[in-house]
Amino acid sequence: MAILRTVLSDITYHARRLTPGDGEGLRILMYHRVTDAHPGNRLCVPVARFADQMRWLAEQGYRTISFAEAVELVRGQGAGGGRRGNSRQAESAAFPRPAPRAPRPKLIVLTFDDGFEDNFLYAYRALAQYGFTGCFFVPSAFIASGQTGHEAVDQPMSWAQLSELAREGHEVGAHSISHAKLTHIDPVQMREEVRGSKEAIEQGLQQPVRFFCYPSGDYNAAVKQAVRDSGYDGACTVEPGANRSGADPFALTRTEISAFDSLWDFEKKIAGAFDWMHRVVQWTKR
Ligand SMILES: [Zn+2]
Repeated sequence: MAILRTVLSDITYHARRLTPGDGEGLRILMYHRVTDAHPGNRLCVPVARFADQMRWLAEQGYRTISFAEAVELVRGQGAGGGRRGNSRQAESAAFPRPAPRAPRPKLIVLTFDDGFEDNFLYAYRALAQYGFTGCFFVPSAFIASGQTGHEAVDQPMSWAQLSELAREGHEVGAHSISHAKLTHIDPVQMREEVRGSKEAIEQGLQQPVRFFCYPSGDYNAAVKQAVRDSGYDGACTVEPGANRSGADPFALTRTEISAFDSLWDFEKKIAGAFDWMHRVVQWTKR
Protein backbone atom coordinates (compact mmCIF):
# COMPACT_ATOMS: atom_id res chain seq x y z
CA MET A 1 0.00 0.00 0.00
CA ALA A 2 2.80 2.39 0.94
CA ILE A 3 4.64 1.60 -2.29
CA LEU A 4 1.49 2.15 -4.34
CA ARG A 5 0.96 5.50 -2.58
CA THR A 6 4.53 6.52 -3.43
CA VAL A 7 4.34 5.42 -7.05
CA LEU A 8 0.97 7.08 -7.69
CA SER A 9 2.02 10.35 -6.07
CA ASP A 10 5.33 10.31 -7.97
CA ILE A 11 3.48 9.91 -11.26
CA THR A 12 1.01 12.66 -10.34
CA TYR A 13 3.81 14.97 -9.25
CA HIS A 14 5.71 14.63 -12.51
CA ALA A 15 2.55 14.81 -14.62
CA ARG A 16 1.58 18.06 -12.92
CA ARG A 17 5.01 19.51 -13.57
CA LEU A 18 4.64 18.70 -17.25
CA THR A 19 1.29 20.44 -17.46
CA PRO A 20 1.78 23.74 -15.65
CA GLY A 21 -0.51 26.74 -15.77
CA ASP A 22 -3.67 25.36 -14.24
CA GLY A 23 -3.60 28.22 -11.76
CA GLU A 24 -2.49 26.53 -8.59
CA GLY A 25 -4.36 28.07 -5.67
CA LEU A 26 -3.45 28.76 -2.09
CA ARG A 27 -2.54 25.73 -0.06
CA ILE A 28 -3.47 25.52 3.61
CA LEU A 29 -1.57 22.84 5.48
CA MET A 30 -3.30 20.92 8.23
CA TYR A 31 -1.27 19.72 11.17
CA HIS A 32 -2.51 18.34 14.44
CA ARG A 33 0.35 17.58 16.77
CA VAL A 34 4.11 18.06 16.64
CA THR A 35 5.62 15.63 19.11
CA ASP A 36 7.76 12.53 19.48
CA ALA A 37 5.44 11.24 22.22
CA HIS A 38 3.38 8.87 20.09
CA PRO A 39 5.42 7.22 17.36
CA GLY A 40 3.09 5.51 14.93
CA ASN A 41 0.22 7.97 15.45
CA ARG A 42 -0.38 9.62 12.09
CA LEU A 43 -1.51 12.87 13.71
CA CYS A 44 1.76 13.30 15.66
CA VAL A 45 4.44 14.67 13.31
CA PRO A 46 7.87 14.08 14.87
CA VAL A 47 9.59 17.27 16.02
CA ALA A 48 12.67 16.91 13.76
CA ARG A 49 10.49 16.08 10.77
CA PHE A 50 8.40 19.20 11.31
CA ALA A 51 11.57 21.29 11.59
CA ASP A 52 12.80 19.82 8.28
CA GLN A 53 9.49 20.72 6.63
CA MET A 54 9.69 24.32 7.85
CA ARG A 55 13.29 24.58 6.67
CA TRP A 56 12.30 23.23 3.26
CA LEU A 57 9.51 25.81 2.95
CA ALA A 58 11.92 28.60 3.88
CA GLU A 59 14.56 27.35 1.42
CA GLN A 60 11.97 27.20 -1.34
CA GLY A 61 11.03 30.83 -0.72
CA TYR A 62 7.65 30.27 0.86
CA ARG A 63 6.23 32.74 3.28
CA THR A 64 3.28 32.15 5.52
CA ILE A 65 0.21 34.31 5.43
CA SER A 66 -2.46 34.43 8.09
CA PHE A 67 -5.82 32.70 7.82
CA ALA A 68 -7.33 36.19 7.65
CA GLU A 69 -5.21 36.99 4.60
CA ALA A 70 -6.17 33.65 3.05
CA VAL A 71 -9.84 34.52 3.38
CA GLU A 72 -9.19 37.93 1.80
CA LEU A 73 -7.35 36.25 -1.07
CA VAL A 74 -10.13 33.82 -1.93
CA ARG A 75 -12.60 36.69 -1.66
CA GLY A 76 -10.50 38.44 -4.27
CA GLN A 77 -9.40 41.21 -1.96
CA GLY A 78 -5.72 40.32 -2.50
CA ALA A 79 -3.35 40.20 0.42
CA GLY A 80 -0.06 40.25 -1.39
CA GLY A 81 -0.67 37.43 -3.81
CA GLY A 82 -1.07 39.53 -6.90
CA ARG A 83 1.42 41.36 -9.02
CA ARG A 84 2.24 44.75 -7.65
CA GLY A 85 3.76 47.85 -9.10
CA ASN A 86 3.95 49.03 -12.63
CA SER A 87 7.27 49.50 -14.31
CA ARG A 88 5.88 49.83 -17.80
CA GLN A 89 6.46 53.57 -18.02
CA ALA A 90 10.17 52.86 -17.81
CA GLU A 91 10.04 50.81 -20.97
CA SER A 92 11.02 52.32 -24.25
CA ALA A 93 8.20 52.46 -26.77
CA ALA A 94 10.76 51.76 -29.49
CA PHE A 95 11.55 48.38 -28.05
CA PRO A 96 8.27 46.95 -26.90
CA ARG A 97 8.80 43.99 -24.67
CA PRO A 98 6.39 41.91 -22.71
CA ALA A 99 5.70 43.58 -19.38
CA PRO A 100 8.07 42.15 -16.79
CA ARG A 101 6.31 39.75 -14.50
CA ALA A 102 7.16 39.91 -10.86
CA PRO A 103 7.89 36.42 -9.56
CA ARG A 104 4.77 35.04 -7.99
CA PRO A 105 5.25 34.96 -4.23
CA LYS A 106 4.98 31.50 -2.77
CA LEU A 107 2.35 31.75 -0.08
CA ILE A 108 1.20 29.11 2.33
CA VAL A 109 -0.99 28.88 5.40
CA LEU A 110 -0.13 26.64 8.36
CA THR A 111 -2.93 25.42 10.62
CA PHE A 112 -2.81 23.28 13.77
CA ASP A 113 -5.90 21.56 15.13
CA ASP A 114 -6.91 20.47 18.62
CA GLY A 115 -4.81 22.74 20.85
CA PHE A 116 -2.32 20.26 22.28
CA GLU A 117 0.54 21.71 24.31
CA ASP A 118 3.11 20.27 21.92
CA ASN A 119 2.00 22.95 19.45
CA PHE A 120 3.37 25.54 21.86
CA LEU A 121 6.41 23.54 22.97
CA TYR A 122 7.69 22.43 19.56
CA ALA A 123 5.80 23.85 16.58
CA TYR A 124 5.94 27.42 17.86
CA ARG A 125 9.74 27.28 18.22
CA ALA A 126 10.27 25.88 14.71
CA LEU A 127 7.92 28.49 13.21
CA ALA A 128 9.79 31.29 14.99
CA GLN A 129 13.05 30.17 13.46
CA TYR A 130 11.79 31.10 9.98
CA GLY A 131 9.49 33.97 10.88
CA PHE A 132 6.46 31.81 10.05
CA THR A 133 3.07 32.16 11.65
CA GLY A 134 0.31 29.62 12.17
CA CYS A 135 -3.37 29.47 12.97
CA PHE A 136 -4.18 27.31 16.00
CA PHE A 137 -7.73 25.92 16.16
CA VAL A 138 -8.62 24.91 19.70
CA PRO A 139 -11.67 23.29 21.31
CA SER A 140 -12.48 25.79 24.06
CA ALA A 141 -13.35 23.18 26.70
CA PHE A 142 -9.91 21.56 26.32
CA ILE A 143 -8.26 24.86 27.20
CA ALA A 144 -10.73 25.78 29.93
CA SER A 145 -10.51 22.39 31.65
CA GLY A 146 -6.80 21.75 31.08
CA GLN A 147 -7.73 18.34 29.71
CA THR A 148 -7.90 16.98 26.20
CA GLY A 149 -9.75 13.81 26.97
CA HIS A 150 -6.73 11.86 25.75
CA GLU A 151 -4.03 10.30 27.91
CA ALA A 152 -2.84 12.19 30.97
CA VAL A 153 0.44 13.11 29.27
CA ASP A 154 -1.41 14.93 26.50
CA GLN A 155 -2.00 18.39 27.91
CA PRO A 156 -3.77 21.12 26.01
CA MET A 157 -2.27 24.57 25.75
CA SER A 158 -3.09 27.00 28.54
CA TRP A 159 -4.69 30.41 28.09
CA ALA A 160 -1.28 31.92 28.89
CA GLN A 161 0.40 29.92 26.13
CA LEU A 162 -2.31 30.81 23.63
CA SER A 163 -2.01 34.46 24.63
CA GLU A 164 1.70 34.33 23.94
CA LEU A 165 1.08 32.82 20.50
CA ALA A 166 -1.41 35.58 19.76
CA ARG A 167 1.01 38.24 20.95
CA GLU A 168 3.67 36.84 18.63
CA GLY A 169 1.47 37.22 15.57
CA HIS A 170 -0.17 33.80 15.41
CA GLU A 171 -3.92 33.35 15.16
CA VAL A 172 -6.16 31.41 17.48
CA GLY A 173 -9.34 30.03 15.99
CA ALA A 174 -12.25 28.03 17.38
CA HIS A 175 -12.64 24.28 16.94
CA SER A 176 -15.98 23.96 18.80
CA ILE A 177 -16.33 23.56 22.55
CA SER A 178 -15.96 19.81 22.97
CA HIS A 179 -14.75 18.63 19.54
CA ALA A 180 -18.17 17.11 18.86
CA LYS A 181 -19.06 16.02 15.34
CA LEU A 182 -21.43 18.84 14.56
CA THR A 183 -23.80 17.05 12.17
CA HIS A 184 -24.25 14.26 14.72
CA ILE A 185 -25.68 16.35 17.55
CA ASP A 186 -28.95 18.20 17.88
CA PRO A 187 -29.12 21.59 16.15
CA VAL A 188 -29.43 23.63 19.35
CA GLN A 189 -26.37 21.98 20.80
CA MET A 190 -24.56 22.34 17.46
CA ARG A 191 -25.14 26.09 17.43
CA GLU A 192 -23.95 26.31 21.03
CA GLU A 193 -20.73 24.47 20.11
CA VAL A 194 -20.11 26.96 17.33
CA ARG A 195 -21.06 30.17 19.12
CA GLY A 196 -19.98 29.18 22.63
CA SER A 197 -16.43 28.31 21.61
CA LYS A 198 -16.01 31.74 20.00
CA GLU A 199 -17.21 33.46 23.14
CA ALA A 200 -15.11 31.35 25.49
CA ILE A 201 -11.88 31.89 23.54
CA GLU A 202 -12.58 35.59 23.12
CA GLN A 203 -13.05 35.83 26.85
CA GLY A 204 -9.95 33.76 27.58
CA LEU A 205 -7.71 35.78 25.25
CA GLN A 206 -9.49 39.12 25.33
CA GLN A 207 -9.42 39.40 21.58
CA PRO A 208 -11.75 38.57 18.68
CA VAL A 209 -11.88 35.03 17.29
CA ARG A 210 -12.63 35.22 13.58
CA PHE A 211 -12.21 31.71 12.21
CA PHE A 212 -13.66 28.28 12.78
CA CYS A 213 -12.49 24.76 11.99
CA TYR A 214 -15.10 21.98 11.71
CA PRO A 215 -14.18 19.16 14.14
CA SER A 216 -13.28 16.03 12.17
CA GLY A 217 -14.15 18.01 9.06
CA ASP A 218 -17.80 17.22 9.76
CA TYR A 219 -20.19 19.90 8.51
CA ASN A 220 -23.24 20.53 6.36
CA ALA A 221 -25.19 23.57 5.18
CA ALA A 222 -26.78 24.11 8.63
CA VAL A 223 -23.43 24.00 10.41
CA LYS A 224 -21.93 26.38 7.90
CA GLN A 225 -24.85 28.75 8.40
CA ALA A 226 -24.39 28.57 12.17
CA VAL A 227 -20.74 29.51 11.73
CA ARG A 228 -21.76 32.51 9.59
CA ASP A 229 -24.51 33.52 12.01
CA SER A 230 -22.10 33.41 14.94
CA GLY A 231 -20.00 36.14 13.36
CA TYR A 232 -17.05 34.20 12.05
CA ASP A 233 -15.34 35.41 8.86
CA GLY A 234 -14.32 32.01 7.52
CA ALA A 235 -13.87 28.32 8.24
CA CYS A 236 -11.84 25.35 7.10
CA THR A 237 -12.58 21.73 6.36
CA VAL A 238 -10.47 18.60 5.94
CA GLU A 239 -11.27 18.40 2.24
CA PRO A 240 -8.09 18.31 0.16
CA GLY A 241 -6.84 20.64 -2.53
CA ALA A 242 -5.69 24.22 -2.99
CA ASN A 243 -8.00 27.23 -2.69
CA ARG A 244 -8.54 29.38 -5.74
CA SER A 245 -9.95 32.86 -5.90
CA GLY A 246 -13.70 32.60 -5.53
CA ALA A 247 -13.55 29.58 -3.20
CA ASP A 248 -16.08 29.44 -0.37
CA PRO A 249 -14.41 31.17 2.62
CA PHE A 250 -16.53 28.99 4.93
CA ALA A 251 -15.28 25.75 3.36
CA LEU A 252 -11.57 26.29 2.74
CA THR A 253 -9.74 23.11 1.84
CA ARG A 254 -6.59 21.87 3.51
CA THR A 255 -3.72 19.52 2.83
CA GLU A 256 -3.09 17.08 5.64
CA ILE A 257 0.50 16.48 6.67
CA SER A 258 0.86 13.17 8.48
CA ALA A 259 3.51 11.72 10.74
CA PHE A 260 4.52 9.29 8.02
CA ASP A 261 5.29 11.83 5.31
CA SER A 262 8.89 11.90 4.16
CA LEU A 263 10.27 15.24 3.01
CA TRP A 264 9.66 14.04 -0.55
CA ASP A 265 6.02 13.25 0.32
CA PHE A 266 5.78 16.72 1.84
CA GLU A 267 7.11 18.31 -1.35
CA LYS A 268 4.64 16.29 -3.42
CA LYS A 269 1.76 17.30 -1.13
CA ILE A 270 2.64 20.97 -1.57
CA ALA A 271 2.60 20.36 -5.32
CA GLY A 272 -0.85 18.79 -5.07
CA ALA A 273 0.24 15.29 -6.02
CA PHE A 274 -1.78 13.69 -3.22
CA ASP A 275 -5.01 15.63 -3.68
CA TRP A 276 -6.82 13.11 -5.83
CA MET A 277 -5.81 10.22 -3.56
CA HIS A 278 -7.09 12.12 -0.52
CA ARG A 279 -10.36 12.71 -2.38
CA VAL A 280 -10.69 9.00 -3.11
CA VAL A 281 -10.01 8.12 0.54
CA GLN A 282 -12.60 10.65 1.73
CA TRP A 283 -15.13 9.46 -0.80
CA THR A 284 -14.76 5.86 0.39
CA LYS A 285 -15.36 7.00 3.98
CA ARG A 286 -18.75 8.46 3.10
ZN1 LIG B 1 -9.82 18.35 15.60
